[in-house]
Amino acid sequence: MEEMVFQIGPIRPPSEANSLLLRVTVNCPWNRCKFCMLYKKYDFHTRSVAEVKQDIDTMAELRDRILQYKTANGWDIQAINNEYQTLTTDDQRWCYQMVFRWMTEGDCNSIFLQDANTMCLRADWLAEIIRYVRVKLPEIKRITSYGRANTLAKITPEDYKMLKEAGLDRIHSGYESGSDKVLALIEKGCTQEEQIIGGRKVREAGIELSIYFMPGVGGRELSDDNAIETAKVINAVNPNFVRLRTFVLRTGSLMEEVRDAGGWTEDTDMNKLLEIRKLLAHIDPTKANGRITSDHIINLLQEVNGDMDTDLPWMLEYIDSFLALPKLEQRKYQMARRMGFPLDWKQLWRMRESDRKIVEDLAKNIVDEKDWEKKLHTYMDHYI
Ligand code: SF4
Repeated sequence: MEEMVFQIGPIRPPSEANSLLLRVTVNCPWNRCKFCMLYKKYDFHTRSVAEVKQDIDTMAELRDRILQYKTANGWDIQAINNEYQTLTTDDQRWCYQMVFRWMTEGDCNSIFLQDANTMCLRADWLAEIIRYVRVKLPEIKRITSYGRANTLAKITPEDYKMLKEAGLDRIHSGYESGSDKVLALIEKGCTQEEQIIGGRKVREAGIELSIYFMPGVGGRELSDDNAIETAKVINAVNPNFVRLRTFVLRTGSLMEEVRDAGGWTEDTDMNKLLEIRKLLAHIDPTKANGRITSDHIINLLQEVNGDMDTDLPWMLEYIDSFLALPKLEQRKYQMARRMGFPLDWKQLWRMRESDRKIVEDLAKNIVDEKDWEKKLHTYMDHYI
């Protein structure tokens, strides 16, 4: 089989797990956020429209090739496996797997434009690429991209209109915090005002907006500010999705320098949950009707999901019911969750007895609060 490969960048939003990943730009043009280690060693560059079109062609060819193995009785997995065994490089295998997964588990649904801030590309180039996707992969239902808030604020309404008409459906944006103090501290390179302007422009163009926030990123010192100012942004923008990513200080990140300089202390796991509670309590359900999503294992209570106009009372009650538990019960769940058992705290009894015993022993025997946080941290470090 001839070389059928296309470029694949390092990350995508969790909701794009079964999407095709189309690398339109490479690395991050900002690259200065203190908490982020993803692209620090690499320079940003764009790819030419012709190069990206070539990758789209390759995706379409792979789709056609794999489609040969679809029979009236389903997929001929043996034939697919046989072909897969002939692939000689990792790149070939990754590309083949991605297209196959997109066709089977992903129902040919979606394509995500990588890398970190593809919205910084000239709008007419981006529109040309999106139109080409629509022609070559017409089964695609959703085209999405990452975009930084200050880039989103600069794009004109005319360019948004062109991108929407070309077929751009959703923009994911790591807002991280709505607090100007926190944004400056983490060197996010944008302000609350830019977040609001950019977010509103996206929504006004009819493009869906999915924004990410990091409860805890302001540290203990700016916890209230982080919650309250973030809620202000949500109320002002009314994004379609608010995705929670509880902040955890990553070993080796520049946030360690922020901590060492003083004035920023990583908050406890439980206080970060209290911050989420405060954030939810300040969202105005008459202004925001999108969805809160805890679609990451880093969040302590993954059941905190719901529509902002109807489900906030339920989400607050759910958090309160956990906070009302005896401390030992809270700790048992915390440890289980941080060890990777993806549970609702009401389902702890479902764990194997031996696992339950491990978390119970840890919850009882680690008395010192600093040691407790350290232990939790050793597990959470793997998730970020
Ligand atoms: S904009 Fe995104 S990818 Fe770039 S440094 Fe910040 S968090 Fe990392």
